[in-house]
Amino acid sequence: MAKQSQEEVLEFVLNSSELPTLSNVASRLITITSQEETTINDIASLISKDMSLSTKLLRVVNSAFYSFPQQIGTIHQAASILGTNAVRSLVLSFSFLKPEQMKSNGFDYAAFWENSLFEAVTARMLMTAVDAEDSEEGFVASLLQNLGVMVLSRAYPAPYAEVDKMLASGDYKRSDIEKQIIGADHTYIGSEVVKRWGFPETLVAPIAYHHHPHKYTGDSKKIKQLCQIVHLSDMLSKARRSKSPEEHVTQFRRRAKQKLNINDRMLEKLLDEVHTEVEETAKFFNIKITHQKSIAEILQIANAELSVLNLSYEQMNRELVEKTVKLELMTKELEKKNDFLEKLAHIDGLTEAYNHRYFQNFLDKEINRADRNESNVSVVMIDIDNFKSFNDTYGHQIGDQVLIQFSEQFRNAIREYDLFARYGGEEFVLVLPDTEADQAGEVAEKLRAMIAGYTFTHERETYHITASFGVSSINPPKDNFGKNELISRADKALYESKKKGRNGVTIYSSKKKWFGR
Ligand code: GH3
Ligand code: MG
Ligand code: MG
Repeated sequence: MAKQSQEEVLEFVLNSSELPTLSNVASRLITITSQEETTINDIASLISKDMSLSTKLLRVVNSAFYSFPQQIGTIHQAASILGTNAVRSLVLSFSFLKPEQMKSNGFDYAAFWENSLFEAVTARMLMTAVDAEDSEEGFVASLLQNLGVMVLSRAYPAPYAEVDKMLASGDYKRSDIEKQIIGADHTYIGSEVVKRWGFPETLVAPIAYHHHPHKYTGDSKKIKQLCQIVHLSDMLSKARRSKSPEEHVTQFRRRAKQKLNINDRMLEKLLDEVHTEVEETAKFFNIKITHQKSIAEILQIANAELSVLNLSYEQMNRELVEKTVKLELMTKELEKKNDFLEKLAHIDGLTEAYNHRYFQNFLDKEINRADRNESNVSVVMIDIDNFKSFNDTYGHQIGDQVLIQFSEQFRNAIREYDLFARYGGEEFVLVLPDTEADQAGEVAEKLRAMIAGYTFTHERETYHITASFGVSSINPPKDNFGKNELISRADKALYESKKKGRNGVTIYSSKKKWFGR
């Protein structure tokens, strides 16, 4: 669709068959109320001709809202008490707020009029709060402030669907999208349409300026106030549809105080009662609306939704942190436990030396490493001398203590990458990586001397022992024997040490070296 000028849009909607029409009575009423010579009698007789309208009007003026001390029985009476403007506004309101208007053909009339009714009621309450005359004028001006939306939507159904789509998708102003897509906005169209219907300036201006009340530059204080009130009713109505109603309500309060001088107590009363007032009013107009939530409830729901969001986020965060920390702690604990268990599996219970199995695995790895590095691995077999008789003499318990201290001395004496293990019983073994036979023999001799000179103690008693050593070595790339042969050679050398009188070191070789004694 080629975009039109706003005058073209206006021309189009005015000629559209979709343009809503005023009832005859309303139209006639507008005409006669604009004439100086019209009397209350003229108005009353015009309305009285419409039975249905008369009944509705009487119901409204007898409602709690007006709380007149006496029952008003006739239209004449009503018109006299309410005044010309009020009656005209009421008749206009009835002309629009009727069940027939709620029929749908692509446009959501029910939602539209429900919002409009909320705005109308808010405006009427604001009128009362500022003690303005003719609160019905605020009511109908506010009720029809968005008439342009309905008019545009009916005349341009497809483009207007686009407007609604864009409005739902982002943070746009309805007027801007309407101007962009259709060429004119609802404030212009609405106010121009009611102008054509002969509406007085008190109704035209608020419709034209309900977004920007300061743009009304006329000098009628009454109209100025009406523009502010209609604008405010729009603001509170937006709170009902907003995801952040708090903002709109706060803005509404501030502006109502600033522009209309409404005090806090009055404002609270209005905010407390507007939803019930809307429901009451709907009954008088015989239209169905959805259950009205109170402003407090709307704010509470939004807050709850927000706090649920925040809470779950916070909670999620906190739980995540807690879980991560717990997991880390558990992992560390588990690692510790695993380390401990692993060690336990590798450690001899009595002497805390590595056990036989660990020794075997360790030696496998070291031989492989030596194979890669073209280096030597040496093994030193150690057997405590005459330990059977030691046990026999001092008892098994002291024998155990000796084994414990013996192991401790060895573990303290060796290099970090050497391995000291209990081979079984009173036999122990050393694995010395990267060590040739002679060096290993020297290490063994040093350890032999250490043990021979060491004083074992238990409960103030002192003990001495000696041990015999057998050393063997392998250079895996050169030597064509394996682990078992390496151990067996050390064993043979150890046997040699025993044979030679114990407390000695033998290096396995063809020459069979012998260290001191
Ligand atoms: P040799 O010098 O020829 O090695 O003589 P020995 O008595 O040390 O050798 P033998 O193999 O005859 O006896 C080993 C003894 O070591 C027997 C056993 O009572 C003792 N023994 C082995 N394991 C333990 C242990 O865990 N605790 C104690 N207290 N004694 C042990
Ligand atoms: Mg033995
Ligand atoms: Mg022994």
